[in-house]
Amino acid sequence: MSLADTLRQSIMADGPMRLDAWMTACNGHYYASRDPFGAAGDFTTAPEISQMFGEIIGGWIGDIWTRAGAPAVHLVELGPGRGTLMADALRVLGRLPGFAETATLHLVETSPVLRAAQAQTLVASPLAPHWHDDLEAIPDTAPLIVVANEFFDALPVRQRKAAAELHIGVTDDGFAPVWIASAGPDREWSPAGEALAAQIGARLDRHGGAALVIDYGHDGSRTDEGLDSLQGLRHHMSHDPFIDPGEADLTAHVDFGALAATAGVPAHGPMPQGVLLTRLGIEPRAEKLKAGRDTAAAARVSAALVRLTAPVQMGALFKVLAFQGRGWPQPAGFSE
Ligand code: SAH
Repeated sequence: MSLADTLRQSIMADGPMRLDAWMTACNGHYYASRDPFGAAGDFTTAPEISQMFGEIIGGWIGDIWTRAGAPAVHLVELGPGRGTLMADALRVLGRLPGFAETATLHLVETSPVLRAAQAQTLVASPLAPHWHDDLEAIPDTAPLIVVANEFFDALPVRQRKAAAELHIGVTDDGFAPVWIASAGPDREWSPAGEALAAQIGARLDRHGGAALVIDYGHDGSRTDEGLDSLQGLRHHMSHDPFIDPGEADLTAHVDFGALAATAGVPAHGPMPQGVLLTRLGIEPRAEKLKAGRDTAAAARVSAALVRLTAPVQMGALFKVLAFQGRGWPQPAGFSE
């Protein structure tokens, strides 16, 4: 039975489905059944644009780890996609004396297809990955360093507008939004995202560590922002989230303010991705990568730099939030 048929039966039996349940079912099916990245897929993420992205993040991790006194840590990535960011970061981290000898690598990934891709990408890395379905499954025994790029935006949201909450009902031949009375302010929020931020915060508070969350989003301070940011993406084009369930990537903008408030540890940002990457040295890194390459290869590096940092490209839409664990130093790049 197709996902559409399963959802249809469930709605006919139990009534309209709340948006977060719909998103969980759709994205679960979507990610479990494909590698969605790149020109031939549905969307392209920063680590797939250039190795510089993961390298700069690897440098950020190495810096805070060194200043924290180089303890044994659990290095965690949430939703690693093809594993590209982590492979690029580990090339940098593997050169730090003591890091690979003491750290353990944990990947939180539910998709079997993407777990296989990650295994392949990381085969020559200095750390062997352990896979988990959720953060809770990672041993709670050491400082945690967490990276999540375009992960929180895939977590399910709820939406309330004019005292009614968005649900999905059936029509003769498909699905359509149904609004059901619900008291409370107009808002779009992610209970799953906030619960995860609280879990990360609790661990950072117990054992120390740091986290870096990179995503399309806002800081939650404006009442006109992020009330209805649900979107589907298929073949790099916008796709109605209620058509062909499980065949498009469903996302919502991340409310960084809500994540910071629920984590309960010091938070820094959200800071525009372009500003942070520049402060962390992506420009000299690009120059180094261009040196000695032919004109075409050097031009590709320059183009990737612009795509990652220019405000009209990913530089301003994407933002970065950092969490600082108990007893750990300030993260690089966030203060003037
Ligand atoms: N970080 C990667 C991939 C982003 S796409 C990159 O930047 O390229 C989102 C990733 O999160 C995918 O790997 C997807 O399979 C995973 N994912 C989505 N929802 C998840 C969930 N609830 N639990 C664990 N992994 C999830």
